[in-house]
Amino acid sequence: MIISDRYDRNIRLFGAEGQQKLRETVVTLIGAGGLGSAICQHLALLGVGKIFVIEDESLDNTNRNRFIGARADDPIPGTHKLDVIKRLVRETNPDVAFTGIPYCLFTIEAFSAIRESNWVIGCLDHDGPRAVLAEVCAAYAKPYIDAASDVPEAGVYGGRICITNGDGCLFCLNQLDSADIRRFLATDEEQRNEAAIYGVPIGALGESGPAVSPINGVVASLAAMEFMVAVTGLRAPTRLLEYRGHTSKVLVGTDMPKPDCFYCKGTWGIGAEADVERYLRMPHLRQRRENA
Ligand SMILES: [Zn+2]
Repeated sequence: MIISDRYDRNIRLFGAEGQQKLRETVVTLIGAGGLGSAICQHLALLGVGKIFVIEDESLDNTNRNRFIGARADDPIPGTHKLDVIKRLVRETNPDVAFTGIPYCLFTIEAFSAIRESNWVIGCLDHDGPRAVLAEVCAAYAKPYIDAASDVPEAGVYGGRICITNGDGCLFCLNQLDSADIRRFLATDEEQRNEAAIYGVPIGALGESGPAVSPINGVVASLAAMEFMVAVTGLRAPTRLLEYRGHTSKVLVGTDMPKPDCFYCKGTWGIGAEADVERYLRMPHLRQRRENA
C-alpha cells in the first residue's frame, strides 16, 4: 500500500484502507460542464485511481462563469472542455490517471469506459440521455450517481443527486420525465409527426436556462460526498438528495424504490442480455447530439 502524506487528512477521516479503496476506483464521468468540472476536482483531490471523462463539446464564453479550471486566456474557439479538465486533474493530482473521450454517450468508446469503471457519474442536461445512461449502468451493475442542477421556474433553483445501485433508481424514484425520454428516443420523422399533432413542447427548442457556480458547487459536493462515503465505507450513501437553493435546504428523499422496478430488478447485472448496445444502433441519437 503506497500512500503519501498528500492524503494524511483524508486518512484521518476514513483510514488508509479507505484511501486505498479510492485509489483502486475507476470513475467514468459523463458531461464535463460546470457541475462535471467541479466533481472532477473533488475526484482528483480525493485521489481516485482513474477518471474517464466523456464530453464532446468545446469551451465557449458562456461557460466561463462556472467551469472549474477554465482560464481567462484559454482561447475560444480552440479549447476543448476535455483539455481544461485534463489540465485541472493533472495539476491538482498527477497520481490520478485521466482519459478524455471526445465523443457523446452513444458511442462504443463511451460504453467501453463505463464497462471498465467501478462508478459512473452523470452530469447530463436532459432526461433522454440520462435514462439511457441509467439503463446502461443497470445492465452492467455499475453504481451510478446522477447529478443535476435545476432551475425549473422563476424563483425556484437548486438541484439533486440520485444514486442507483441496484436498489432504487431514477426510474422507480420518479426522477425522470417519460415524455422527454420518448421524444428523445424518437426518430426525426416521429418527432416531426408528434410536433404536427401536439405542437412543439416547451423546452424542446434547446434554450439554455440559468447556470451559476454556487449551485453547481453545492450539487457537486453532495455527489462527491456520497461517492466518498460509499467507496471508503464511511457510511451507506443516501439514495436521493434534493438541494433547494431558494429555501437553503438539503432534503433527503423518502420515497421507497419500487420492489418490481424493471431496471433495479429485471435489468441489474444482466450484461449483454439487456442489449443496451441497441442504443448504438440508433444513429439518430448520435446525429442529434452532433447537430446540437
Ligand atoms: Zn428502480
